[in-house]
Amino acid sequence: MDLEQRLFENFGFHTFKPGQKAVIEHLLKKQDTLAVLPTGTGKSLCYQFVGQMIEGTVLIVSPLLSLMEDQVTQLQKKGETRVIALNSSLSFLEKQYVLAHLSEYKFVLISPETLTQKEVRHKIASLKIALFVIDEAHCVSQWGVDFRPEYTKLAGIQEECGYPLTLALTATATPAVKKEILQQVFTQRKEISEVIFSVDRPNIGLIVEQIAEKDDRLISYLTQLRNKGIIYCATRKTAEKIHRLIKDTTNVKSAFYHGGLTANERSLLQQQFVSNQLDVLCATNAFGMGIDKPDVRFVLHYDCPDSLENYVQEIGRAGRDGQASLAILLYQKGDESIHYYFQSESRLDRELLNELNVNNLQKHENLLPELNEIQQKWLQGYLEKEYTIEELEQRLLRKEKERQQQLSVMLNYINEEKCRR
Ligand code: ADP
Ligand code: MG
Repeated sequence: MDLEQRLFENFGFHTFKPGQKAVIEHLLKKQDTLAVLPTGTGKSLCYQFVGQMIEGTVLIVSPLLSLMEDQVTQLQKKGETRVIALNSSLSFLEKQYVLAHLSEYKFVLISPETLTQKEVRHKIASLKIALFVIDEAHCVSQWGVDFRPEYTKLAGIQEECGYPLTLALTATATPAVKKEILQQVFTQRKEISEVIFSVDRPNIGLIVEQIAEKDDRLISYLTQLRNKGIIYCATRKTAEKIHRLIKDTTNVKSAFYHGGLTANERSLLQQQFVSNQLDVLCATNAFGMGIDKPDVRFVLHYDCPDSLENYVQEIGRAGRDGQASLAILLYQKGDESIHYYFQSESRLDRELLNELNVNNLQKHENLLPELNEIQQKWLQGYLEKEYTIEELEQRLLRKEKERQQQLSVMLNYINEEKCRR
């Protein structure tokens, strides 16, 4: 049976998307592969497809619970029952059960934090791993906002597993990130097949406007576009403010979404947006990774994004169905300064957290009111580990004193100058 035929029979698609077939062919030839394919290409299909053709377990390291859940449902819908997500959402007993029966599953999705726990690590090393998948492999990059320290331990785990066939997947690869992935994920490997496709999305028209009156412009776009879209803001405060503005001046159905909402609230909003009960979401960059809504017609940046990579990721959420869509960036001179602040701050806390074994921050988010969005997002990477809250508190207080001066100056600046736009 040729690959196209198998694609149709097992997945119901007539053609591969650009890059998919090349990745699958490399893997079938047992070549370690780095695939850089735009968001929405169907990167998951690559390992689902190969997994069904080879013997042994497919282990998929994935950074977010929601991404894992998506994958589990995707696979189950295709009739695959031997699939499990191994992460902090399992109870103690469930986890013990799953670990005891691990070799019976074909696809094991696992968070990096769970994977690095001793007993799990041990168990994984005893499996016959046919394919080791590192999803969102850019999380290994120290300098990206999605950095996850546990990703840097994956090379060691691969070694313990006897270097199984490995696939690293991401949509982000500047030369620097690519280099980091190759160094950290494929240490000790000589020949890595690369499948790299341009992040260019020809169906997304790009507009950048330098404009002082952003609010008016935003409203005029919304009334003209009359379609589903995401409005990205740099802070929670702005996201809420823009939501209120839309509510007060239009009949567009809007909501705001940011890391300050509970996980339940966020998941509900995501569902409402995906099922068209909402027209627009005013969101910080906490919204987006793994959202599979095909018909987002525009992504409007009310604030400038913090890097070109994130800009590309964020606008990539428009037009996943290939239909014409718009990416609009409203820019005002000086907009970028907020990100200089965020970036210097998030480095500080990265240091802090490397020292601490910080965990389960979501429960204790109220401890961290002074942390900004990017830090909190980053901190949530630690959701799964054990730690004492006293330790965290003490450490934060100490750090807080150290940087009080810098903070108060910068916070004033941001609150007064930036968030009142
Ligand atoms: P990525 O991880 O690259 O952002 P996903 O793996 O989440 O993308 O897949 C995005 C969507 O594309 C899914 O709904 C998937 O079913 C669909 N898809 C995957 N491969 C194909 C294909 N060859 N043809 C059409 N749709 C596909
Ligand atoms: Mg994906």
